Amino acid sequence: MTDRSCSSSVRSNGIPDSPAWVHAVAAIPGCRVVPNAPMAQVTTFRLGGPCAWRVDCSEADRVAEVVAVLATSGCTWRVMGSGSNLLVSDAGLDQVILRFVARHPDIRREGLWVSVGGSTLLDDLAAFCAREGLDGLRFANGIPGTVGGAIAGNAGAFGEDMAGVLVQVDLVNREGRVVHVSSRDLGMGYRRSSLQDGAWVVSQAVFQLQPGPPEQLGSERERILSLRRTKHPDWRVCPTAGSFFRNLAPTSAAGVRQAAGWFLEQAGAKSFREGGARVFEKHANIIVAEPGVATAEDVRRLANRMAEAVYAKFGLRLHPEVRLWGNFPANFWDTSE
Ligand SMILES: Cc1cc2nc3c(=O)[nH]c(=O)nc-3n(C[C@H](O)[C@H](O)[C@H](O)COP(=O)(O)OP(=O)(O)OC[C@H]3O[C@@H](n4cnc5c(N)ncnc54)[C@H](O)[C@@H]3O)c2cc1C
Repeated sequence: MTDRSCSSSVRSNGIPDSPAWVHAVAAIPGCRVVPNAPMAQVTTFRLGGPCAWRVDCSEADRVAEVVAVLATSGCTWRVMGSGSNLLVSDAGLDQVILRFVARHPDIRREGLWVSVGGSTLLDDLAAFCAREGLDGLRFANGIPGTVGGAIAGNAGAFGEDMAGVLVQVDLVNREGRVVHVSSRDLGMGYRRSSLQDGAWVVSQAVFQLQPGPPEQLGSERERILSLRRTKHPDWRVCPTAGSFFRNLAPTSAAGVRQAAGWFLEQAGAKSFREGGARVFEKHANIIVAEPGVATAEDVRRLANRMAEAVYAKFGLRLHPEVRLWGNFPANFWDTSE
């Protein structure tokens, strides 16, 4: 094997053969490199075969260094956060996955401005803002995943989203250089942005918030967390990636998106099951995967059947919110952005 290799081959003595870039990344503080790493261990669906190498990086001020090394390696790579919006194929990924998740929140406040590392968990940021009397991220309470992942997918709830409070990001480009980009230039729309292919890394983000009473923000946080506990499966015990499909574009002057879950329920999806994957009994747009039984292909087949059922009843094509990584057969749903 040459030093520029991306595959994680294993010698006959069982010890993985490591190219030079692996040693260079492993020497960066806060980083770890794992060969042949099962994606099922780092996605909330708990599904997916191995990636060639997984690079764990927790610190926002180190991620540019990591990318600079990856750039010289010749490997193909992409970034992930907590894996709460991903379905990875059973065959895995023939590439390097940069997993950018912080062990501790990295948040600084200056007045109504908050600067946060892209690897910080979004819910940690929401809790910080509630304690500090900063309003604008109530919707983010309880959404799993990192700040970087939330910006890439413009995560949201209750009609609000990241685009409404995000001012600027630091992006690490393919060469490992940091560029400052205004949120206006990120192409953010309903559950999408120009960042979604995992090619550029959000290393830092700046939000502008409004003053709000900490007690009221704290009780609102508790209310939202409790609502989520009753409406959603707990992904720690019941593997899922949340809503599988995006809500549908508004058809009336009211401009309100129509819940994909309503159409799915009318189409009978709540009774659907494929292998170890089934539709969650309380929410027709959520797929849960039985641990140790379900495969990514079960989930894909089930989602495809759900999309077909909505099309057959309403003539509407659903669009997945969950990102599919790896090789999957062609699907019925709409893949345009
Ligand atoms: C129980 C449950 C409830 C959920 N509820 C909601 C909800 O209410 N609203 C909602 O919007 N979503 C919800 N989700 C989906 C998910 O939590 C969000 O999409 C989340 O923002 C994904 O973040 P992540 O770090 O897990 O990203 P990942 O799933 O790891 O990655 C998703 C995408 O983001 C990109 N990405 C990740 N990190 C970065 C980075 N630092 N820089 C650039 N790109 C990056 C990846 O390349 C990938 O394309 C839910 C999921 C679950 C399991």
